[in-house]
Amino acid sequence: MPNSKRDFIIPVFVPHAGCPHQCIFCNQNTVTGEVKSIPSRNELNNIIETFLKFKGNNRNRVQIAFYGGNFLGIDTDIVRQLLVAATKYVTDGLVDSIRFSTRPDTIDDHKLDIIENYPVKTIELGVQSMDDSVLLLSKRGHTYSDTINAVALLKKRNFETGLQMMIGLPGDDESKSLATARYISALCPDFVRIYPTLVLAGSTLAVLYKKGMYKPLSIEQGVAITKKIYLVFKENKIKVIRMGLQATDELKEGSSVIAGPYHPAFGHLVYSELFLDKVINMLEAKHSSNHDSIVIKVHPKSISMLRGLKNINIQKIKDLFGIKSIDIIPDISLSRDEVKAEYIDRV
Ligand code: SF4
Repeated sequence: MPNSKRDFIIPVFVPHAGCPHQCIFCNQNTVTGEVKSIPSRNELNNIIETFLKFKGNNRNRVQIAFYGGNFLGIDTDIVRQLLVAATKYVTDGLVDSIRFSTRPDTIDDHKLDIIENYPVKTIELGVQSMDDSVLLLSKRGHTYSDTINAVALLKKRNFETGLQMMIGLPGDDESKSLATARYISALCPDFVRIYPTLVLAGSTLAVLYKKGMYKPLSIEQGVAITKKIYLVFKENKIKVIRMGLQATDELKEGSSVIAGPYHPAFGHLVYSELFLDKVINMLEAKHSSNHDSIVIKVHPKSISMLRGLKNINIQKIKDLFGIKSIDIIPDISLSRDEVKAEYIDRV
C-alpha cells in the first residue's frame, strides 16, 4: 500500500534518448508528453526549480529523475553534462540525490565508473519480462541474462535498484508474467513497478493491433494479473511503488491510448480488489446465516480502496453474503493494508 510520506521526484524526461531502437510497445513522446529528447542546461534548471516550488514539507527525500529514455545509452559527454547540472542542486542542499531509468544491457563497469563521480542513488532497469521469447517479440534487444548481470553489478556497488516489469506483452500470458515476478523477486530489488502494456499511438504495437495481430488485455484481466503479481512481490517483501502508468493528459483513452488496460487509477483498482478478496475470505471463514450486518475496520487512508470505485466492493459484499448493512469504521491502529470484518448483532 502507498506510504504516507513519499519521495519527491523531479522528473526530467529524455524521451527515447540513448535508445538503440524503438521497442514494439513504446512511444515515449506520448507517455511523457515531451517531444524534445535532451533538455538544455537552462531548460533543465527551469524544470527542477519549478518543481522545487511545489515540494511542500511532508516529503521524504528529494530526487532528480531522468526518465523516458535509456539514460546510460546517451552519449557519455551528454550524460556527464546532465549529471553535472543535477549535482549542483545536491551540492546546494536542495536535492538529496539523482535517479534514472536505463536498459539492462547498458549496465557495465565502465558506465558505472562514470556515474560513481556523481550523487546517483537509484537506478531503475526496464526489465519488462524475464522470458526471452517475450523479449524477442517485443524487440527489446536484450535477454533475461542481461538483467541478471546488470542487477549483480548494481548491487555490488550498492545502488538502490528498481526493476520495471510489464504484463500483456506479445507472446506473454499470466503464467509467464508470474514467472517473471518470481525471477525478479529472486534478484531482491529494492522496489518494482508493474506496467500493463497499452497500445500507444505511434508504436509498432499500434500497427499490429490494427492488423488484428495483437490483442491487448482488458482492464479486468490487467487488474487480475497485476493483483497476483503484487502478491508475489508482497510475499517476497519487495516494495511495489507503482502499478499502471502515471495518468497524464496525453494518455487519456481515445487520444494517445488506442487500446489496452488504461485507467487513470489503475493501482487503486488493484488495491480495491485486494481489499475485496480479504473481506470475502474473512466473511467466508466466519460464515453466518443469522446476521445481515457487518462492521469493517480499516485505516482511514484506505477507506476509498476498501469501498472501490463507485462503492463497487460494498455492493459486491452485500450481494455475495446477503448483507443489508455495512458499517465502515476508520481504525488508525491498523496498517494501511489491514482490514478486519466481523458480523454484528443489531439491537
Ligand atoms: S522502452 Fe525504453 S529502451 Fe525501449 S524505446 Fe522505449 S525508452 Fe527506449
